[in-house]
Amino acid sequence: MQKFCRLTHARFTQARYGTVTDALVSVFDESIVSWSNETENFEAHVVAELPLAECLLLAPVVPTKIVCVGRNYAAHAKELGNDVPTEPLLFLKPPSAIIAGGESIILPRESERVEHEGELAVVIGRRCRRLGAGADPLAYIFGYTCLNDVTARDLQKRDVQFTRAKSFDTFCPVGETIARDADVSDLKINVRVNGETKQDGRTSQMIFDVLTLVRYISNIMTLEPGDVIATGTPAGVGQLNAGDVCEVEIENVGTLRNTVAAV
Ligand code: ZN
Repeated sequence: MQKFCRLTHARFTQARYGTVTDALVSVFDESIVSWSNETENFEAHVVAELPLAECLLLAPVVPTKIVCVGRNYAAHAKELGNDVPTEPLLFLKPPSAIIAGGESIILPRESERVEHEGELAVVIGRRCRRLGAGADPLAYIFGYTCLNDVTARDLQKRDVQFTRAKSFDTFCPVGETIARDADVSDLKINVRVNGETKQDGRTSQMIFDVLTLVRYISNIMTLEPGDVIATGTPAGVGQLNAGDVCEVEIENVGTLRNTVAAV
């Protein structure tokens, strides 16, 4: 399984992309500026092999948009008192909310109840628009990563739109790496707070699966390489408090770990 990353290192003036293997990072040349399935033979672009310990891993994507799917697991829809949607319920998070693994989720003053939502995230690898029934959405996917759709639940309940509740800075931890060739049809999603399991689901419980979502969303907006689709959260969402450590672990994809801090 290839794990792709984005990083900084003292040797380079700008962020670079690469792959992680055990404790080593293979860093690509400057020509690779975003993930794309159009890039051929990533290995030919490796210019350095560096110890992972010397590198700072950044969020692996720089998307033009983060498209999120609400209520895509029946048990989660039920725990918030909602019906299961008959077509995907979409909303957006702004790219400005992204943080990397290891960074802190900052609790904003405006909310008294900030919650975790661990989710499988799809990273788009090829521009796509209006995929028809005959197109294969898999050809447009670069890989998969972990995402925490952090939500100010009290503000979400107060507002008609989800925008405010979902968009505070630091409300979109992503990473740490992108798994290129994972089969995501039935993976365990485990979310822990301070080591205690809070969410424990499987991607097979999604109401609308990954391929259905990519096709559906592409018929609304053009998806660009590096764009992210957050595929919804299983049951068990709960409050985050200052000092907590929240981990989103997805089988065969990776682990995303963030601390929580007061503003
Ligand atoms: Zn969510």
